[in-house]
Amino acid sequence: MTYNVTLIPGDGIGLEVTAAARRCVDAVAELFDFDIAWDERRAGEEAQKECGSLLPKETLSSIKKNKVALKGPITTPVGEGFRSINVELRQSLDLYANVRPARLYDGTASLYSSIDLVVIRENIEDLYAGIEFDKGAKDTKELIAFVGKHLGKKIREDSAIALKPISAFGSRRISEFAFRYAADNRRKKVTAVHKANIMKFADGLFLKTATEVAARHPKIEFEDRIVDNMCMQLVMKPELYDVILCPNLYGDILSDLCSGLIGGLGLAPSANIGEKGAVFEPIHGSAPKHAGKNVANPSACILSAAMMLQHLGEKGAASALEQAVIRVIRERKVVTYDLKPKTPAGTREMAAEIVKKLRK
Ligand code: NAD
Repeated sequence: MTYNVTLIPGDGIGLEVTAAARRCVDAVAELFDFDIAWDERRAGEEAQKECGSLLPKETLSSIKKNKVALKGPITTPVGEGFRSINVELRQSLDLYANVRPARLYDGTASLYSSIDLVVIRENIEDLYAGIEFDKGAKDTKELIAFVGKHLGKKIREDSAIALKPISAFGSRRISEFAFRYAADNRRKKVTAVHKANIMKFADGLFLKTATEVAARHPKIEFEDRIVDNMCMQLVMKPELYDVILCPNLYGDILSDLCSGLIGGLGLAPSANIGEKGAVFEPIHGSAPKHAGKNVANPSACILSAAMMLQHLGEKGAASALEQAVIRVIRERKVVTYDLKPKTPAGTREMAAEIVKKLRK
């Protein structure tokens, strides 16, 4: 059996962690008697240099054709320049569900003894919709005038404005996904996170819709938390939580928080899932200061690849790969700086150790 998979190395440490993941996937595929035909494609600044486009048509059509991709992080300039290619990719392919597990393994620098959480983040709407009005622009002045006239609210003239659309459709779709995920993965509880006390319409709609969907899934417990309280709850009592259902922005922030609970960003995988395809990637970014130095932890990307194998139906290979990562982390012999700061191994060496464990 051969699976066609699009590989987007991204940039920064993306090049190194995707190379490590590819090596591990090829090794586990050989053991489990299947093949991966990698279709390597560019996105981000590298693509701009090579093909004149940040997200080339060929990259999108490769994912559409293969329906599965493994992706490294892509740098987004802060406060200026182009908008996030990661967000554009998710929106173009309607990858509406972002699944971000945070599982604690022995051997990490975590402050906790047991963590097993999954953040299910709505991936298309909210402040990530990319609808913004720049300070001083004509449209911004019109919007400020509209708000003044129709809502009687004053917005300062020198403001920039970002819109936060949250639809009943998007909220229902992600809530159904979260409950289906909980049932399929023998999870007991879904906690919806919001700020509906302040954003009564947008977050209010998200919460109301999640509550309606919860009523159709009586076997799964349901509760909700206000996002600021949830941050404190996750730090103080993470064991109380299971599946955490969030709109886009809170999901992004809480999943990084959850990665901190399990020992850092180098250990946190993710999947972006839609009806037309799925893109698997570590939740971390391109960490420019570590790029090209063979220091980044490849585990998050390798665990994302294990999620990809699970999605492809190769459950044995997925589990073997995850177990090999767990064993290497538990031994703390050949691991990167975030797991063993004094005598760290490199990205390539840690990946080679994971391959070795697969074969033993
Ligand atoms: P980051 O995740 O790149 O790095 C933050 C810090 O986390 C790093 O300095 C490093 O100390 C640690 N870290 C991250 N990955 C690690 C790994 N694999 N091993 C060991 N340590 C690791 O976040 P940032 O610095 O805020 O963002 C850098 C760039 O990445 C920005 O341009 C941002 O837009 C982009 N980004 C991309 C994605 C994506 O492609 N999906 C996600 C997040 C950020």
